[in-house]
This record gives sequence, C-alpha cells and structure tokens, in this order.
Amino acid sequence: MENKKEMRNWLDALNLDHPLVIAGPCSAETEEQVLKIAHELKDTDANYFRAGIWKPRTRPGMFEGVGALGLNWLKKVKEETGMKICTEVANAAHVKLALENDVDLLWIGARSTVSPFIMQEIADALKGTDKPVLIKNPVNPDLSLWLGGIERIYKSGVKNIGAIHRGFSSYQKTKYRNIPEWQLAIEFQNKFPDIPLILDPSHITGNREMIFDVSQTALDLNYDGLMIETHHDPENAWSDAAQQVTPSKLIQIMKDLKIRKETDAEAEYNNALNNLRAQIDIVDHDIISLLGKRMIAADGIGALKKKKNVAVLQSKRWNEILGKMVLEGEEHGLSEEFILRMFKAIHQESINHQEKIING
Ligand code: PEP
Ligand code: MN
Repeated sequence: MENKKEMRNWLDALNLDHPLVIAGPCSAETEEQVLKIAHELKDTDANYFRAGIWKPRTRPGMFEGVGALGLNWLKKVKEETGMKICTEVANAAHVKLALENDVDLLWIGARSTVSPFIMQEIADALKGTDKPVLIKNPVNPDLSLWLGGIERIYKSGVKNIGAIHRGFSSYQKTKYRNIPEWQLAIEFQNKFPDIPLILDPSHITGNREMIFDVSQTALDLNYDGLMIETHHDPENAWSDAAQQVTPSKLIQIMKDLKIRKETDAEAEYNNALNNLRAQIDIVDHDIISLLGKRMIAADGIGALKKKKNVAVLQSKRWNEILGKMVLEGEEHGLSEEFILRMFKAIHQESINHQEKIING
C-alpha cells in the first residue's frame, strides 16, 4: 500500500484547532442513557459521538449490544445535539444498516481486523462510501495485518480513512488491558504519515485513572486524535465500566493535555536541537561499534565451546549479567524494563553468533 494524502481529507476538512475527539459510551444501553451523555458532550471538544450497538464480547451471555434499535437513538443524538455520530460495524449487514441510517463515521473493531475474510466482506459492503472509516489495530501486534485491512477498505473505493491504535492483547499480565507497543505505532506513522492516527486510550488502559497519561504520550508522538469512552455513570455501565470517564472528566482531560506543535522555526531552538542530535548520533555510533566488539568476544566464546562441546546457553552466567546490569542501569537512570529488554536482545544476538560458530 502507498501513502496517500487524500486519506486525510475528511480530517483536514474539519479544520480543528485541537486533536480530533471521539467520545461517548462503550455501548448504547438505553435511549435515555445515549441522549443524556450526548447532551453532556454537546458543547465540549468532542467532534463525534460514539456508541457501540453491536458489541463483540469475549464470552456469550455478556451484554452484546442493543443492535439496530440503537441506530434510532444515534439519529436522535444528531437531531437534538447536532453532533456527528459513529459506531462499530463488524459485518456487511451492520454496514448496510449504518449507511442507511446516515451514521457519519464507521469504525472496524480489533476483533474484525484480524480476519481477512470479514475485512473483505466489510470492504465490499462499504464500496464507494464517502463516510470516513477507521480501522482499529488487530488484537495481535501484527503491523502487516493492520495495513492489509486498511488496504482492503481503501481498494474498495473508500478514500476517507483513519487508523485507531487500541493496543494489543497478551498472555502476560501488565498494568495495561492491551499493551500499547508504541514502537509498532511509530513504525506505522513513519510508513504512512498521511493516514490519520487516533489513539483509543480506553481499551489500552482498561482503567480510567491511566487515560490522561497515555493520551499525553500519544500527543507527544503526533497522533491526530483520541477516542475516549465516556459515560454519565461509568461505574454502572453495562460494558467496560472500569475504563469509562464522565463527560466532565473528559473536559478536564482535554483542558490538561498539552498539544505539541510538529516543529518550530526559531533559530535558537533549532541550534540547540541540532547540537543535541549531533551528540546522539555520536553515541549511537559508539553503541553500534561496542556491540560489534561484544559479538567478536561472543564468537571467541563460541569457538571455545565448540572445542569442548559445551552448550551455548549458560543460565547461571546469564542471570548474573542481568542482575548486575539492572543495578548498573539504575545508577544511570535506566529502567529495569528497558535493561531487561535490551539485554535479552543482546543476549539473543550473542546466541545467534555462537550457534553459527558451533554449527557452522
Ligand atoms: C469498542 O470500541 O468498544 C471496542 C469493542 O473496541 P475494540 O475493538 O478495540 O476491542
Ligand atoms: Mn469498550
């Protein structure tokens, strides 16, 4: 897929002086609930009102959404508040109903993006629509699957496109509901700078207390917008209760977020920046040459082990290195998480080198 400027026309046309905001409940529950939240969001930064009416739930028997009935409530939102409306579509029938009911923007959920069959079905049903379509990342951290999904939609003639970063599921328990894997999103931006990228901090964190921080990180990384689940009574929401914020909390979040500019022309800033970047370039160069030296030593160890027919992996020594490096890292202001990640990668490269020597 190529980067296409036209994909962001719909967003540029909104002419916003702040990041795009999509807000509203995880699920439409009742007509009263939907309208109450919409009225509270009407005069905020929210540009689109969201509500899920078909809900992909992990287990059967959980609240699976009110279905097509909810489209009438969304239409009322538009009539009464003037807000644009959006919802998730997960098959051709959903698309047909959403388009017939003049939903202004459609998004495709993480559990749909993983399936090329369902993406193709949705793409065919969307053929030629001028409504913006946002594609969430697949649940697994697979950039090409995400891009493939976007490509299917684009190829069916949908030109107004965006991507929603909602994090990735994992077997590991972390502080996140879905791990952000920022590097993957950064790679996405580098390859496709013109596809609007919107963060969904609600499904990343699973916890309303963390939404502000994760949203700020996204703005620091030049994201184009935020989709934040908002409910007038979050504790009693029928789905995703722990991660929804109230409309007044959303207003506070938007007020506190610092919106960064892409760059600044001032000479003093640019001189200082270039100076620091030159320092970083030198350090990066040194890091690479040191790593190269480390691998030469690893090759030597590989040759010794080959001679004595000793196993490549020496767990005791490896654990000693890790423990020592975590402590040293701390002294230099480097987090344990970073040290572990970096040394695991270095160790793997050493193993690859030794394997080549032993088996080569
Ligand atoms: C949602 O936005 O309510 C939703 C179901 O999200 P996801 O597809 O990211 O799980
Ligand atoms: Mn949700």
